Amino acid sequence: MTSVKAYAAHKSDKPLEPYQLTRREPGADDVEIKILYSGVCHSDIHTARNEWGGTMYPVVPGHEIVGKVSRVGANVSKFKVGDTVGVGCFVDSCGHCNNCKDHQEQYCENGHSQTYNSFEQDKKTITYGGYSTHIVVTQGFVLSVSDKLPLEKVAPLLCAGITTYSPLRHWGVKKGHKLAVVGLGGLGHMAVKLAASMGAEVTMLSRSPGKAKDAEELGAHHFALTTEKETMKDLANTFDFIIDTVSAEHDYNEYLALLRTNGVMILLGVPPTPSEVHAVQLIFGRRSLVGSLVGGIKETQEMLDYCAEHGITSDVEMISMDQINEAYERTLKGDVRYRFVIDMATLD
Ligand code: NAP
Ligand code: ZN
Repeated sequence: MTSVKAYAAHKSDKPLEPYQLTRREPGADDVEIKILYSGVCHSDIHTARNEWGGTMYPVVPGHEIVGKVSRVGANVSKFKVGDTVGVGCFVDSCGHCNNCKDHQEQYCENGHSQTYNSFEQDKKTITYGGYSTHIVVTQGFVLSVSDKLPLEKVAPLLCAGITTYSPLRHWGVKKGHKLAVVGLGGLGHMAVKLAASMGAEVTMLSRSPGKAKDAEELGAHHFALTTEKETMKDLANTFDFIIDTVSAEHDYNEYLALLRTNGVMILLGVPPTPSEVHAVQLIFGRRSLVGSLVGGIKETQEMLDYCAEHGITSDVEMISMDQINEAYERTLKGDVRYRFVIDMATLD
């Protein structure tokens, strides 16, 4: 067992604080990683504040991890000490169900092990995330990261990147498609960059007028304010796809109305409260309302390689570990351009 420094939330209404964590000694198939950068996802906030229920305190969030391999177990063939690697939203799965065999470990029928606030496959050991100096992960769930791109800007790809890449690929988004992204935050800005890179005509739907110029620079072709009733009316029956990344309660019906016939609205954001959907919004126009959870390991590697090839990274604001609580407050206000990333050297 190795004792490592971390930051944890101990209660839903208390700020995160320094915390000493015990990591397992690397087993035969394990990779120990010295974490360089850890992205701050809105899921970290939902979990730290127990907004979805089920938070096991103390919780160490963080599932956008980039670092260097510091130790490897005897059977590790994929990685060696010094390699640059990443870890995303989960660290293990059963490996034998239909979904695992199909490289969709995020939908493991026996329950995947999420990177934090979850259980290892022994169903007993609690997982702790990337707001810490080191993590130990079985080699099959560790990703190779190219040194070509600035690593702090790569970290958010491990969640925000794959969560937006996977549905774009699954639904075959390409040139000729009109796609809207709702909510310009961590996921939203990656959705804009990736969808534009795949050739879609992208419209940013935001409640924040101050983000219009940024949306254009990120690759959006159009920008519309969701707070303007007339604009929303004009956009009725426009889009083949809508990617919804909003973290708080909002009316799905307003957005479904913007889909063309056969259009698909893909939910990525996970507001803590359920929403009501009127059947007519789906029936008239044969529209679909679907969801998507991160992406499998094989697809995450494909996404990292795609981003390295196309020079796609996240726009980040660097923070030190002790600025995490302020970063949460700013994220809640939609005031982040467009992902906070913790320089983990500040925890050493
Ligand atoms: P984020 O950076 O905070 O971005 C969310 C954006 O939603 C904000 O920037 C804001 O954009 C908009 N928004 C926030 N509150 C709103 C409100 N009350 N009404 C309307 N718009 C609002 O969050 P994120 O890290 O991108 O995560 C977004 C959501 O996705 C979270 O719920 C997170 O848990 C979830 N998530 C899901 C998956 C998955 O696998 N499906 C993976 C990761 C995260 P504007 O200012 O442009 O309006
Ligand atoms: Zn995330």
